[in-house]
Amino acid sequence: MAFWPGVVVATPAHSGVGASLTYRSELSLAPGTLVRVPLGAREVLGVVWECPTEPPEGLTEAKTKPVAGVLDGLPPLNDRWRQLVQFAARYYQRSLGEVALAALPPQLRDLSHEQLARRLKRRAKAGAKTGAPAGEVADGHQLSDEQRQALDALATAQAPVLLFGATGSGKTEVYLQATQRALAAHADAQVLVMVPEINLTPQLEARFRERFEPLCGAGAVVCLHSGMTPAQRLSSWLAAHTGQARIVLGTRMAVLASLPGLRLIVVDEEHDPSYKSQEGARYSARDLAVYRGKVETEALAAHERCQVVLGSATPSLESWHAADQGRYLRLAMPARIGGGALPRLRLVDMNHQPKGAVLAPPLVAAMAERIGRGEQCLVLLNRRGYAPVLACHDCGWKSACPHCSAYRVFHKLDRTLRCHHCGFTERVPRACPDCGNLDIAPVGRGTEQVEEQLAGLLADVKRPDGTPARVARMDADSTRLKGSLEVQLATMHSGEVDVLVGTQMIAKGHDFRRITLVASINADSGLFASDYRAPERLFALLMQAAGRAGRDAAQSAASEMWVQTWYPQHPLFASLKQHDFPAFAVTQLAERLSAGMPPHGHQALLRADARTQQAAQAYLNAAAQAAVGLPHFEDVTLYPAVPLTIQRVANVERAQLLVEAASRGALQRFLSAWQPVLLASRSLPEARGLVRFAVDVDPLVI
Ligand SMILES: [Zn+2]
Ligand SMILES: [Zn+2]
Repeated sequence: MAFWPGVVVATPAHSGVGASLTYRSELSLAPGTLVRVPLGAREVLGVVWECPTEPPEGLTEAKTKPVAGVLDGLPPLNDRWRQLVQFAARYYQRSLGEVALAALPPQLRDLSHEQLARRLKRRAKAGAKTGAPAGEVADGHQLSDEQRQALDALATAQAPVLLFGATGSGKTEVYLQATQRALAAHADAQVLVMVPEINLTPQLEARFRERFEPLCGAGAVVCLHSGMTPAQRLSSWLAAHTGQARIVLGTRMAVLASLPGLRLIVVDEEHDPSYKSQEGARYSARDLAVYRGKVETEALAAHERCQVVLGSATPSLESWHAADQGRYLRLAMPARIGGGALPRLRLVDMNHQPKGAVLAPPLVAAMAERIGRGEQCLVLLNRRGYAPVLACHDCGWKSACPHCSAYRVFHKLDRTLRCHHCGFTERVPRACPDCGNLDIAPVGRGTEQVEEQLAGLLADVKRPDGTPARVARMDADSTRLKGSLEVQLATMHSGEVDVLVGTQMIAKGHDFRRITLVASINADSGLFASDYRAPERLFALLMQAAGRAGRDAAQSAASEMWVQTWYPQHPLFASLKQHDFPAFAVTQLAERLSAGMPPHGHQALLRADARTQQAAQAYLNAAAQAAVGLPHFEDVTLYPAVPLTIQRVANVERAQLLVEAASRGALQRFLSAWQPVLLASRSLPEARGLVRFAVDVDPLVI
């Protein structure tokens, strides 16, 4: 008897190959079985998707090749995993094979049969203990009332949980105890814990290991992230797939790991943009986690759930809105453990500071005073790279789009102002259109020299022991070398450094006890940006940074958050002053509603790379033309093509076209209908010079 397995293999997203390729097999192969199959001249890894006993129409034995080998010893990938992958491929408009194979460890493709067998044998011998963790919740982990209430609500919640907890409120302990409960309930239960960047949260990994290795064995906790070697990734993946690992700690890629016993998914800092992939299938790991929880729950007995917990002090407005609608259950933990207060906000009005000052004198004085007392300061630089918006500091004019509730972006290359929403374009005016001031400039400029200036300004400041103050910088450059992050963190913890200067990275997760002053010196670029999500990110960043100050309850009363701004009246600061995220969310969601922006509307971008900007835009506009009359065309709005803010990278010109729809379903159905048109449009004369195109569903930046 012959079988005709349909196998998915890694095909380029737009190769035009259908969902699966048909092969022949003497054996019936369960869906999810990993196989090697011939593809052209090569032999590649594939996943059996279905295994019918009749060949698909038009195929004969002569036209198909036999499966070259089966990776036996590995249990098949289960139905829920395949359902997740299928959903991700369809939703994000990629090929099934691309998503499925990208979710497997790369080394699995290269291992011989014998090598794999050896690894599995070694794993089995090392085998972690399975079964429920012995003993009840260990002593010494006393819960606050808030934590206990959150845990109890979590246990009975019938929807994904949005854990809205202030920085320092003890969310991690809730994750740990929820994990403990999930593992104790089932002998083969597994828990997935996701974090934005694992290198920035070594303390979290340490806490999970410390708590669960004694209970579940040495191999019970594994990590999965892109910083691991291929061998490490394979090892973690195998441990998760075979059920030996009980807890997988990982970054966004971990959402696609094979976890046959999955019972709980935690997404920490759920608002973090790094959960959205920026290449390949541009998926949101947070959104996939919610979908995955639903799929797993559907496969369980009626009273059981695979619970999803999204945790944040500043949730994404998408999640906040979902909770408003009752689709998620919101659990609040507003109090800091130990009763410490959040730092007081001090706004520095830069309109009243000496001209050209990058750091306001009162801020420098406050820092000097704290250094003199042996306390530490954190100076936060808002990451540049927000699309630059032009402003006049004399009258307050900004490069708003006359047709949209968006700011136009300054394109340096051709000195134009372009709206990334509707495409409206004008030359940059010579002077401010409102007051004639010649000095119009991008909002938030002039921070390049901060470190140097700061070192100069603090040169005469002494520490309590009489030695000069020390300033250090921490960013992606200074921490690139392996281990250098740990070294730098240690100098801060030991008190060797008095002032730490850096980007986002220094705002995340670290538990510095002696920081009493946090300063944000160029927040304005997040207030007025063409990207409508910029205020949301700025608020999250400032709240997170504020959370770094006064971790020591004894010092929290005196701790301060300083923000330098030209726009102290901006409503964002009013909410920030009260540490009132709900109030901020209400105003932001109202603005989004009036503009039809997510989560009140739905978006996708069609991006094109080409040898010339003209070609990139021509392809996009041709694709838009060809969309006329497609199913659901009348439910979407297609805007004209615009160049990206950074329009040329490595001699490739980049452009994009925005698609909007009021409903997610309509957008999805339109995109599915559009996909073959996008492929076909590549051969239009207009597309000459096109290098590649890609669809980004639910883009984070437009
Ligand atoms: Zn002006
Ligand atoms: Zn516009």
